[in-house]
Amino acid sequence: MPDGMRELVDTLNKHAYSYYVLDAPTVADGEYDALYDELVALERRTGVVLPDSPTLRVGGGTLKGFKKYVHKSRLYSLDKCKTKGELARFAEKIRAQYPEAAFTVEYKLDGLSINLFYEGGTLKTAATRGNGIIGEDVTAQIRTIKSLPLKINYNGACEIVGEVIMRKSALRDYNLKNPLDPLKNERNAAAGAVRNLDPRVTASRRLDVMAYGFENLDGGAELKTQEDIVGFLKNNGFLVAEYYKKTDNIEYLLECVDEIERERADLDYLIDGAVIKIDELAIRDELGYTEKFPRFAVAYKFEALEVTTVLKEVKWQVSRTGKLNPLAVLEPVELGGVTVSRATLSNVSEIKRKAIKINSRVFVRRSNDVIPEITGVAEDFADSVEVTPPLVCPSCGAPVEADAVFIYCSNRENCRDVIVSRLRHYASRDAMNIEGLSQKTLEIFYDKLGVVTPCDLYKLTARDLTDLEGFRDKKAENIAAAIKASLDADLADFIYALGIENVGKKAAKDLAARFRGLDALKAADESDISALGDFGGVTARCVCDFFKDGKNLKIIDGLLSLGLKLREPKGEAQRGGAFLGKTVVLTGTLDGFKRVRAKELIEENGGETADSVSARVNLVVAGGDAGSKLDKAKKLGIEIIDEAAFKKMIEDANG
Ligand code: AMP
Ligand code: ZN
Repeated sequence: MPDGMRELVDTLNKHAYSYYVLDAPTVADGEYDALYDELVALERRTGVVLPDSPTLRVGGGTLKGFKKYVHKSRLYSLDKCKTKGELARFAEKIRAQYPEAAFTVEYKLDGLSINLFYEGGTLKTAATRGNGIIGEDVTAQIRTIKSLPLKINYNGACEIVGEVIMRKSALRDYNLKNPLDPLKNERNAAAGAVRNLDPRVTASRRLDVMAYGFENLDGGAELKTQEDIVGFLKNNGFLVAEYYKKTDNIEYLLECVDEIERERADLDYLIDGAVIKIDELAIRDELGYTEKFPRFAVAYKFEALEVTTVLKEVKWQVSRTGKLNPLAVLEPVELGGVTVSRATLSNVSEIKRKAIKINSRVFVRRSNDVIPEITGVAEDFADSVEVTPPLVCPSCGAPVEADAVFIYCSNRENCRDVIVSRLRHYASRDAMNIEGLSQKTLEIFYDKLGVVTPCDLYKLTARDLTDLEGFRDKKAENIAAAIKASLDADLADFIYALGIENVGKKAAKDLAARFRGLDALKAADESDISALGDFGGVTARCVCDFFKDGKNLKIIDGLLSLGLKLREPKGEAQRGGAFLGKTVVLTGTLDGFKRVRAKELIEENGGETADSVSARVNLVVAGGDAGSKLDKAKKLGIEIIDEAAFKKMIEDANG
């Protein structure tokens, strides 16, 4: 072996492992590239390439076809359950037979299953599942995946089973770079890349392999439980999904499934359920398999979060800022337990980028947001037509203005829909919370009573309203009373209600907490505002501009003279700062708090919560059985406290 080659390969692989598996880079990109170039030169000069050389990952020439591969141990599908009751019955049945059995809970990764044969510490073959007995040899493709170790510590013969996935962020990046031919869905993109005869295509997709299974082929490794397997996989450099729990409590098992379902939309990769396995391998051996499934594991399937349906029409909705937002009208379809007939399309450039056409079949995905989004086109038809953005505002007929991404009504000050949307925002639950002022009602107020600004609302009498068609006495009285009641408002809610660009609920709260009154806020300059934790320069400018605009000031003064009274935030200025400016992650089980309550407490005490550990996290609260998030926090050197310390921080801060 040429001098220095082994060291060079080891160094590069170590850095790649830190970067792709641990998500904690140990070297600058430029340094890595320099070492890599050095290795390429050395390999070229000597003609020697080690079996775990990172240069093998670029993908050589195109293959003629896939060879068949006979799996050394058969791959099975998983039996499914759809309700918690079924899952509980599965666990109870096992328990009746094996009272001491423990269960593990993992994500059910939604990608392409892959079987990796290692021998003598090197990856020999990677194969798709196929029919479970025979799959396709995709070694050249899989080798390009950077998070997969080509070399492992363990020397025995074994098969490692895992899932090839494409991260949502990788798909987004890919689509930004390939706007003409975007990928639609992470699972299809991963499967398509692995089954592409040109390994360079696989390499360009930035896939990952997450491992979850291990089959001993020569009895070398003494693993007794799934927990051992997961430990083994980590020790040998494999990427393992973030979630892993082990429990002998069936009730807790069901809670884990709920927890996974809650985390689902926030993950950077697709999962379609949870996999529950018996931890002890000895019990697994006794239970064995049916024709298709293992008897010792089951998949709890979540409802689909992505379906396809036909896009019937695109409507352009005028927002309170004058932006025209495309809204997709869909052939109604079931998605995650609700019927969906509307979806967002973001903006004009997104529509172009995704080549979305009316009458095409499109992918619809629901994330945590209330309104689903269209992620791409599944199929075009003969009658598919391009979406053409309007040239005039659908509300007022004024010509539209366009920037690179959005289109706007050029008549913002006088456009009916802009005015009504602003009022609607003012009255909304999170703002002034005036019941009864729906979009429809506000349209009538505008059309019939000339209500344009919030001041006009407060000048309305119950009499004005009863004169309107469809407003019976009671309804008119209720609305009039609700409007009047809103004159007593929280400062934060009012700031939010003003609809200042870029100022959401949280920013409004921060502004109220810092300035504690309208006068101080009006007098603040950009640097005062951008000094607040989360405020960027742009938001600070929006706030200052808003309070410099005479029209806005006139409305505010008008409201004050109509009797608006603003309550200052409760407590001392900046009080309850136990977690002020901190981003906190909760992991493991807390005995004394419900998860939601713990989150609330952090927020009430000035902090923010996040679902996953990253460099921007300041504090991790680790309950019992904390897993990968805790490991990651340790690696990143983030402060970690236990439940008792968490409780004490809150008590101290709140006397
Ligand atoms: P299905 O293909 O729907 O029958 O589900 C079985 C498949 O789930 C397996 O072949 C694996 O590819 C996949 N899978 C995803 N995550 C896991 C996991 N944590 N453990 C076992 N199988 C998993
Ligand atoms: Zn308009």
